[in-house]
Formats: sequence, C-alpha cells, structure tokens
Amino acid sequence: MFTCTPTLAKEAALDRAMAKRSTCPRCRRRYHHCLPLRIIGSCLECWDGTPADPHSYIAPEPDTVILRAA
Ligand SMILES: [Zn+2]
Repeated sequence: MFTCTPTLAKEAALDRAMAKRSTCPRCRRRYHHCLPLRIIGSCLECWDGTPADPHSYIAPEPDTVILRAA
C-alpha cells in the first residue's frame, strides 16, 4: 500500500493540466470548467464580452493585485 506518492504526483500533474485548460490567459481567472482556448484563446468574457458567472471561476491570485499601504 505505498501508492500514495505516485497517486498524488499524478493528481498534481493532472491538476496542472486542468489548470492550464481552465485558466484564461488574458484575465487570469481560473474557471471551474475547461475553456475553448484552442478556438478563442481566452474565456468568453475576454473574447466577446459575455459576462461570466462569478460563481463559475476563481479570481486571480492576490499576488497580481497591487497592495497599497494605508
Ligand atoms: Zn478572460
């Protein structure tokens, strides 16, 4: 029963592959579904302005936001 490490590594690789397919390269949102990147290269909102359901994606990482000291 030493399958934990290979399984986790496999899942991590799978997650990276999923993240690549579900993250919009233009707005950096990670959607909960795969984007048609091969066809339009971004999410629908970036492509034609169709507003995305806020519940259908995770906002970009906070490190992309410029924080200002109060
Ligand atoms: Zn986008």
